[in-house]
Amino acid sequence: MSRPIAANLEIRSTGKGDHIACRSCGHALAPAGQPWKRQAILRELSMNGAGGKAYTGAREAILRQFGCPGCGALLDSEMALPGEPFLDDIVRA
Ligand SMILES: [Zn+2]
Repeated sequence: MSRPIAANLEIRSTGKGDHIACRSCGHALAPAGQPWKRQAILRELSMNGAGGKAYTGAREAILRQFGCPGCGALLDSEMALPGEPFLDDIVRA
């Protein structure tokens, strides 16, 4: 059984408990209620110029993209400053 929690994430119930998993391939990222982004593939891009002149004043801002290690699907993204901790959404079953 599974329950969608985002476009590409779901809570999947297995014999070993509930896990946050990729909706595309089923890759289990973390137990429900635990941070999952550290298990994803991280890509950081500069936001400088990404949106035209709107971002030219924040040269250090980055876009983080979190990809599935199983299939490469984009799972989530966030804006941050370098070295900032991940914005963890704690999802409980
Ligand atoms: Zn996947």
